[in-house]
Amino acid sequence: MFSPLIDELIHSLCCLPGVGRKSAQRMALHLLERDPEGAGRLVGALGTAIEKVGRCLHCRILTEQPVCYICSNQRRNTGLLCVVETPADVVAIEQSGTYQGKYFVLNGRLSPIDGIGPKELGLPQLFQRLRQEQQVTSQADEAEVEVEKDNANAPVTELILATNPTVEGEATAYYIAEQARQCGITVSRIAHGVPLGGELEYIDGGTLTHAFSSRRSI
Ligand SMILES: [Zn+2]
Repeated sequence: MFSPLIDELIHSLCCLPGVGRKSAQRMALHLLERDPEGAGRLVGALGTAIEKVGRCLHCRILTEQPVCYICSNQRRNTGLLCVVETPADVVAIEQSGTYQGKYFVLNGRLSPIDGIGPKELGLPQLFQRLRQEQQVTSQADEAEVEVEKDNANAPVTELILATNPTVEGEATAYYIAEQARQCGITVSRIAHGVPLGGELEYIDGGTLTHAFSSRRSI
């Protein structure tokens, strides 16, 4: 129905999440007919981003710098490391303004069926880093050397697991917790439960069970 070039454009747009053939067709025709200037900007931005954006060497978040702005922020508490599944999770936590530590982005979760193991999530490097930090700290303790205790250079002391409460998310959290404990690091899991402003009668059983098991005294 369309010429080969337009057809190829529609087909390419289908790679976007949530975009089927119909939406892709609408987008392609809009760009070609109504907004060729916008299409040009899109091509430019996409090309530059693909060429220049990579992963932060420390936390694996997408950035065009070798080390991202969160990891290079000297005021953040390096003693806390929050493990999340996606960069969008980092944005959500940052927007809440409650967390001042650093992050580690898995860019996925353990899923053996899809061929996603610890290596694909960058976990061997994370555990190696944690082990090295622990060794340096314990050597310094043995030699009774005063190591710098300021926030910016402190080794990770607590790993906060903030993977999603799905089957894979829980399995991923469990795996990381086991490994991190072997490195001698305290591990915690974010609480899942009743949302603020929610009503108990509308909440599913699984969430309620979680809420009860992670209750705390007030
Ligand atoms: Zn980073």
